[in-house]
Amino acid sequence: MGKAMIIGAGGVASVAVHKCCQNPEVFEEILIASRTKSKCDALKEKLDGGRTKIQTAAIDADDVPALTALIRDFQPDVVLNLALPYQDLHIMDACLAAGVHYVDTANYEPEDTAKFEYSWQWAYADRFREAGLTAILGSGFDPGVTGVFSAYAMKHEFDEINYIDILDCNGGDHGYPFATNFNPEINIREVSAKGSYWENGAWVETEPMEIKRVYDFAEVGQKDMYLLHHEELESLAKNIKGIKRIRFFMTFGESYLTHLRCLENVGMTSIEPIDFEGHKIIPLQFLKAVLPDPASLGPRTKGKTNIGCIFRGKKDGKDKNYYLYNVCDHEKCYAEVGSQAVAYTTGVPAMIGAMMVMTGKWRRPGVFNVEEFDPDPFMDALNAWGLPWQESHNPVLVD
Ligand code: NDP
Repeated sequence: MGKAMIIGAGGVASVAVHKCCQNPEVFEEILIASRTKSKCDALKEKLDGGRTKIQTAAIDADDVPALTALIRDFQPDVVLNLALPYQDLHIMDACLAAGVHYVDTANYEPEDTAKFEYSWQWAYADRFREAGLTAILGSGFDPGVTGVFSAYAMKHEFDEINYIDILDCNGGDHGYPFATNFNPEINIREVSAKGSYWENGAWVETEPMEIKRVYDFAEVGQKDMYLLHHEELESLAKNIKGIKRIRFFMTFGESYLTHLRCLENVGMTSIEPIDFEGHKIIPLQFLKAVLPDPASLGPRTKGKTNIGCIFRGKKDGKDKNYYLYNVCDHEKCYAEVGSQAVAYTTGVPAMIGAMMVMTGKWRRPGVFNVEEFDPDPFMDALNAWGLPWQESHNPVLVD
């Protein structure tokens, strides 16, 4: 079918590359391009010899002219951005300059202000439309599958969706007192920020971890979960007509929260540069350097994730509740691709998003979130590529 260029060679990219190589009919050739080329080469070495032809390259994705030249040289059908959110706009600029479609998994965040929102990327809509190019934002699990689940519920189960609760449960145990499951800097910026949810057309802001609920997750059990701001709230509030409230909850254990509180109290999660022995350092980046590398958690993590959406709305004039979710086993993921379930649940939908563009199933000039496309081919692909979904028509609701 064609060629994809994957930017980044971290936890999520590693899974996406494995999945592309399992899918050589679509991914005949891939180029893995990242800042540290040795990580790209290590992936190539592991996966070479299959039907997908793999090339590697060193690139600083913030260098737009160099990235544009690399894209022009390889001529991929799509660029799959699996670097960090800071690179999003530069990679979109290079895609526009080189005339190539774009897919990512996380919305843009400026490096010096811990604030993420879609406005910066949505502002590219006219340029992508005029260039006849498709940009798909947020094709991971959350955002990503949660948006596809919402589009599927809207298409097949409801006339109107009024309430969505997104529940992200990680029941995995890696045995460390404190570690993050994906990039520590991005993860800690997300969970130490104020929470918020969308209600009756406006944002309601909460203190970090202010709202706690307990939920009994299928195949995982009872967990504490906390309300966070999360990026898909913004796009779903815009794209799901008739919505009255959307909230996002993520589970955290006591040990994680106690460590995080302590690190915050001593200033280790700050992104303000400080002077240290004549150097400027950013405490959060230093913390990242001393924490376990998320990639090293794979062989140690046991247990399952359960991520999904509970919908409440109306069908044929009657009230209706519906829950769509996926359960993913850390050890099975590790056995298959050498990564734990958090990277797996992001890398698989990233590959599927790129596949949707390459096969032409999701191609429309402009900048879109995943819920704006037909969910059916994506839902079929989740079942086929390792993230089968389950449904309940009688879920326990979150108060
Ligand atoms: P990692 O830190 O493991 O990997 C990031 C990769 O990007 C590294 O290989 C890094 O290179 C590379 N990179 C960083 N800066 C640049 C640059 N300027 N130019 C080129 N390459 C660069 O992160 P993850 O794999 O955990 O996360 C990847 C993305 O996935 C993030 O944006 C994250 O927010 C998103 N994500 C989305 C989720 C979802 O469900 N939607 C869930 C989890 C993550 P180097 O090796 O040199 O550092």
